[in-house]
Amino acid sequence: MTVEQIDIAIIGAGPAGLTAALYASRARASTVVFERGIPGGQIVTTDRVENYPGFPNGVSGAELGDLMTKQAEEFGAIIRTFADVVAIEPADLDFVVRTGDGDEFLAKAVILATGAVPRKLGVPGEAEYTGRGVSWCATCDGALYRDKTVCVIGGGDAAVEEALFLTKFAKKVHLVHRRDELRATKCIQEKCFANEKVEMQWSRVPTEIRGDGSRVTGVLLKSTKGEPDALLELDGVFIFTGIHPASELIGPLTELDEAGYVRIDHDGRTSWPGLYAAGDVTDSELKQVITAAAKGASAAFEALRYIDSRVCSI
Ligand SMILES: Cc1cc2nc3c(=O)[nH]c(=O)nc-3n(C[C@H](O)[C@H](O)[C@H](O)COP(=O)(O)OP(=O)(O)OC[C@H]3O[C@@H](n4cnc5c(N)ncnc54)[C@H](O)[C@@H]3O)c2cc1C
Repeated sequence: MTVEQIDIAIIGAGPAGLTAALYASRARASTVVFERGIPGGQIVTTDRVENYPGFPNGVSGAELGDLMTKQAEEFGAIIRTFADVVAIEPADLDFVVRTGDGDEFLAKAVILATGAVPRKLGVPGEAEYTGRGVSWCATCDGALYRDKTVCVIGGGDAAVEEALFLTKFAKKVHLVHRRDELRATKCIQEKCFANEKVEMQWSRVPTEIRGDGSRVTGVLLKSTKGEPDALLELDGVFIFTGIHPASELIGPLTELDEAGYVRIDHDGRTSWPGLYAAGDVTDSELKQVITAAAKGASAAFEALRYIDSRVCSI
């Protein structure tokens, strides 16, 4: 088997990986991006991105992903789609990157941009109405629900904070939680209970998301205490039952935080020389397209410097 030698391997073609690819290839580094699905990352599932600069009328997630891909390819980055990276192994100063199809690449530096996967409910209607009323991101989609009724599923800090954020737009926010008390910290709970727009749906779990074929119209809730089912009529369902960073690939090589996010320094370095990370897989606070893109650029810049420093020290 031939092992292809490259400068920079980027794992994941979301906003972080594609921006890293743009910076790396534009600096004439041989750059390969490995993407297990189609390029674009999480945003390809969303109808409208309204908070990425340069698009005053918004842009569909799929189109934004497509534009980022084309721009990286324009400068010579190779995007390998349906290429699932299954291992990253150090080999002296380099890394062997192995895909599920058995292809191997030897890279001088690796940027992990594998993102994160929001936990799914697994109920009927969830997949069908994703991006059409079902969302995992209040910061992204909240403004679309001005004067509408929405529900938030979850009971931790993220769920309650997002419910409070949604009250800035929605006329009513149902907070659906499987237990009869929240897990969120007390001061956040107090703010939530004091907000007249929030109505608690205690001891209930969603069993179905309903719609009219084009958008969400309601959610069916089952009681965990034997009460009758309830149908909430609403316009949007926000799911905050946890998020899973896709950091397994480099877990053994570098430091992760308690929740599994890759710890990086300000410039995207991990604790392993030559190994960088960017975007939602990292422990950075704001998880958005613009921050992922910015961190991708920083990681590529540092990876290029690292490769240059290796040449100089030979
Ligand atoms: C429904 C929804 C709507 C959103 N709307 C907005 C919005 O309007 N504005 C905004 O700023 N943000 C929005 N976000 C958040 C934004 O999409 C993310 O913050 C951003 O996509 C993170 O980029 P990333 O490149 O770090 O990771 P991701 O976008 O998660 O991309 C990671 C990529 O890595 C690939 N991958 C993972 N593991 C492997 C592997 N082993 N081998 C190969 N490939 C792999 C994945 O398939 C994926 O394509 C939204 C998120 C969701 C879920």
